[in-house]
Amino acid sequence: AKHKGKSAFAHFAPEMTEVSHERLKMESSMRRALELKEFELYFQPIVQTDSGNLCAVEALLRWNNPAMGMVMPDRFIPLAEETGLITPIGEWVLEEACRAAVGWIQTTGRDIGISVNVSPRQFRDPGFTETVMHALSTSGLAPELLELEITERLILDNSIETAEILRQLDKAGIRLSVDDFGTGYSALSYLKSYPFDTLKIDKSFVQDVMKEPEDASLVRAIINMAHSLGLRVIAEGVEEEAQTHFLKKENCDFSQGYFYSRPLPAPEFDDWLSSNHR
Ligand code: C2E
Ligand code: CA
Ligand code: CA
Ligand code: CA
Repeated sequence: AKHKGKSAFAHFAPEMTEVSHERLKMESSMRRALELKEFELYFQPIVQTDSGNLCAVEALLRWNNPAMGMVMPDRFIPLAEETGLITPIGEWVLEEACRAAVGWIQTTGRDIGISVNVSPRQFRDPGFTETVMHALSTSGLAPELLELEITERLILDNSIETAEILRQLDKAGIRLSVDDFGTGYSALSYLKSYPFDTLKIDKSFVQDVMKEPEDASLVRAIINMAHSLGLRVIAEGVEEEAQTHFLKKENCDFSQGYFYSRPLPAPEFDDWLSSNHR
């Protein structure tokens, strides 16, 4: 038992090679994916909890690769972050999302917001603010209709640069939300020093509000805290009608989840919009 080291290594090594080979393959396909137009945005409605009316839409990235099929973001965003490819990919997402929103606003005659996920590496790119402003000006979208979703992980770095960029975006009228709230960072003091507008309660809390009294208490407490700080709240991962009753009772401003709609590709989202917009 003492000397299992060698055989364990012999067994381990090829696996490692396989993993890094897989990674390299994915990285080189990712480098070409923008050019080959393999990325696609899916859209998921965010509704007012009270009325069920559409308020905004979250853009969710998909990668259609001929060899790998549809690749979900959890599988490729981390690698895109590590390699820096997230910067050009994220730029494409911003442009595409703003353009889509302007289309819906034109067809419905209503103000529909668009929420875009921004990863830390992308946010820290020196050209980020400019990229955002460019997406707004080329699409003609009002800054108030763009919301950038940022995870608590980004705020963890506590840098002057992060604070300054958030301030610039806020000053330009762009909305800022904390994504996956409750899963990342335990200190809450950043909420008073950064210009956030919205908290998105992570779906792990929302999923069990009907089963676990502790989760119900946490969701209730987050909503009350957010409101007392002047922030709006979105519950994500709403799958059942019972959850919508709970969220209504607790005055949660907005809801998002499979109960309302799954994320849809653009043509299907257009159909959803024409049959559901009120
Ligand atoms: P997220 O921002 O927390 O997005 C919500 C995720 O929950 C999405 O997964 C969505 O499809 C899923 N979801 C929505 N409603 C429900 C529900 O009722 N139940 C359950 N179980 N899940 C639901 P998706 O699309 O796989 O995205 C995963 C993550 O990838 C996102 O988490 C986000 O962090 C990241 N991501 C997606 N698109 C982008 C992007 O354009 N840029 C960056 N940087 N990250 C992105
Ligand atoms: Ca999000
Ligand atoms: Ca603001
Ligand atoms: Ca989330």
